[in-house]
Amino acid sequence: MQVRVTDVKKWVGREETVQFREPWPLVVAERAEAPLKQPAAIEVTVRNTGRALLAEVHGEAEISLVCSRCLTPFWLKLPFSTVEEFREEPGPYEADAEYYRYLGDHIDLDPILADLVALAVPLAPVCSADCKGLCPHCGVNRNEATCECAAAADPRWEALAGWTPAGSEPDSDA
Ligand SMILES: [Zn+2]
Ligand SMILES: [Zn+2]
Repeated sequence: MQVRVTDVKKWVGREETVQFREPWPLVVAERAEAPLKQPAAIEVTVRNTGRALLAEVHGEAEISLVCSRCLTPFWLKLPFSTVEEFREEPGPYEADAEYYRYLGDHIDLDPILADLVALAVPLAPVCSADCKGLCPHCGVNRNEATCECAAAADPRWEALAGWTPAGSEPDSDA
């Protein structure tokens, strides 16, 4: 996503807001490692501070994930916002630099969006905070059905199931 800064970079103090409604850049979907609902809706305000351009980015990604408890696919909304500095100077892109570089009439938001979305994806996503998950015994989705397993024997007694009291073994020598 390219933001045109031709005008804003001419005067210190100038500010412009642009709204994007377009497909997610490929790099964002690749970093997120999951399908994204299209299109992206992002608002960017670029401010000329004299030394640099400050880009304030707000948006929301909706991403297709699989619940880590009940294994059901679901859509998760990931709101994000950030403020990044851009300075007009030559040089390569550096992911961990204090500021980004640009040359000419556009700043490139793609690497920033890719970072924002990738970092917002939870490691163990859940479809809802009170997801009951799958039954560890029969595998039924406890959000949709109940099973009888909950009433089964306390697992702490399982070790005793094969135990026979001393002296009561059948006499094999007989
Ligand atoms: Zn779930
Ligand atoms: Zn069960």
